[in-house]
Amino acid sequence: MTKADHILLLAGTFEARLLARQLEECFAGARLTASFAGIVSDLPDLGVPTRTGGFGGVEGLSDFLSAEHVTLVIDGTHPFAAQMSRNAVEACAASQLPLIRLERPAWTALPDDNWRHFGSMQEAARALPEDARAFLAVGRKEIGQFAWRDDIYGLARMIEAPPQPLPAGWDLLLQRPAQSSSEEADLFRKHGITHVVTKNSGGVRAYAKIEAARKLGLPVFVIDRPQLPAAETAADVEGVLQDTRRLLGWISR
Ligand code: NAP
Repeated sequence: MTKADHILLLAGTFEARLLARQLEECFAGARLTASFAGIVSDLPDLGVPTRTGGFGGVEGLSDFLSAEHVTLVIDGTHPFAAQMSRNAVEACAASQLPLIRLERPAWTALPDDNWRHFGSMQEAARALPEDARAFLAVGRKEIGQFAWRDDIYGLARMIEAPPQPLPAGWDLLLQRPAQSSSEEADLFRKHGITHVVTKNSGGVRAYAKIEAARKLGLPVFVIDRPQLPAAETAADVEGVLQDTRRLLGWISR
């Protein structure tokens, strides 16, 4: 680690938020830049220099890496932010820079769970039965893939409003996931939910709905994670810090 080191942290997850603070503490002297896609407007303050908005594909990211003398990229984006993760792999390979991907483990079904797996939102939307009352935890850019199902009831929850109106009779909750399974179960009971639809985001902060579905015996339609190109990965913040120490030569100090 030298004063010349510049770490680019691709942010957007709770873990990236924790990581920003830890990187600053552990690697004092190095430059650190966090980056957000800027999809939501109430971005958290990471307490480190931050830029917002896309880079402009692989080429734009490669230009940024070179212009800003980045020496390490940490991909702390959401497991479904596949385009950004792919771009990071390509740009780092082209620029011969090390890359660490923070990949939190996916959720796995417990014996009492009733899960169906889908490779895409479209497949999950098609599979919902006609009389379904579906809880849709799928994000503002994805809800459109369910909106043609005006023969079902949808309760959609996301942080910011979607670009298009939802079908008549559906409900929209503009909020982050509840942290307690009893709160989620109350919500499902209140709206007579029969199916829960979710991305396999992993982590603890969106898991309460999975526990609530288990409690109520509801089927969960799980959208499996997109395939990503191979990269060095760490499962948690501590793992990323260890890899960073090794890759930037901090360990020998
Ligand atoms: P994406 O499809 O991988 O990204 C689309 C484009 O957004 C990227 O190509 C890049 O634009 C820009 N981008 C994404 N993350 C960025 C970052 N950290 N810094 C700068 N630019 C970034 O991902 P997405 O559209 O953000 O989201 C796809 C899925 O991930 C959705 O399911 C969403 O709900 C979920 N998700 C994403 C985030 C997030 O922070 N990205 C957070 C929570 C959930 P350029 O090609 O122009 O560089």
